Amino acid sequence: VLRMESVRKTFGESVVLRDVGLEVAPHTVTTLIGASGSGKSTLLRCANLLEEIDDGAIWLDGEEITDPRADQDAVRRRIGVVFQAYNLFPHMTVLDNITLAPRRVHGVSRAEAEERARGLLERLGLAGKADAYPDRLSGGQQQRVAIVRALAVRPRLLLLDEITAALDPELVGEVLEVVRGLKDEGMTMVLATHEMGFARDVADQVCFLNGGVVLEHGTAEQVFGDPPQERTRRFLRRIV
Ligand code: ATP
Ligand code: MG
Repeated sequence: VLRMESVRKTFGESVVLRDVGLEVAPHTVTTLIGASGSGKSTLLRCANLLEEIDDGAIWLDGEEITDPRADQDAVRRRIGVVFQAYNLFPHMTVLDNITLAPRRVHGVSRAEAEERARGLLERLGLAGKADAYPDRLSGGQQQRVAIVRALAVRPRLLLLDEITAALDPELVGEVLEVVRGLKDEGMTMVLATHEMGFARDVADQVCFLNGGVVLEHGTAEQVFGDPPQERTRRFLRRIV
């Protein structure tokens, strides 16, 4: 679904992604781990064309999206993103938050957008919240609404950046449960996380970012079990 090759991204003098390669197969979950500042968020932002890369190339479903001729808006319409701060529009109800993009950007009728939204809300355990305003929801509920909103446009790929980082510990579980459910339904996802237990549990592929490269990638057993790289072992010893 997604492929990155030799991706380089700098901010002024600082090289954040030096030479990143990544391959995400359909219906798989890839987790990005690595120290704070290792470039996980930057990688996700590059994948969604929120950041322009300096070198290398990125493909989505076989189409080179970093080609200057690529239609960036069309690319973004195929990728759902959820970030740490859920960024729901506070002056809109849950239902309006979710149906905004399908209606405005994807040209879906209001009736159909609302039907889809209600179906998704129901699946994520939020059936009664359609008409609520975000500030009346718990952090976990707001984050689930943000996930529904990302799913409402039926993306090919879902990018999730620290979606539990802003949550109280007791609310983390419900959000991770949603991710697990999406995985079971075959959604292709790339997620950056500091939740190592989860990163290990849910991943088909784990990528360890270090020094601007994907230093290690493989199954959870490979990366968490007996990583070949000493740096990976050190990172895991420190935090697990
Ligand atoms: P964390 O685990 O804390 O979320 P991360 O792995 O997501 O960290 P990034 O947010 O991708 O790390 O940041 C990687 C590096 O790029 C950091 O050193 C950061 O300061 C730098 N950086 C990120 N965005 C910008 C920007 N817009 N301008 C300048 N530097 C930036
Ligand atoms: Mg980050």
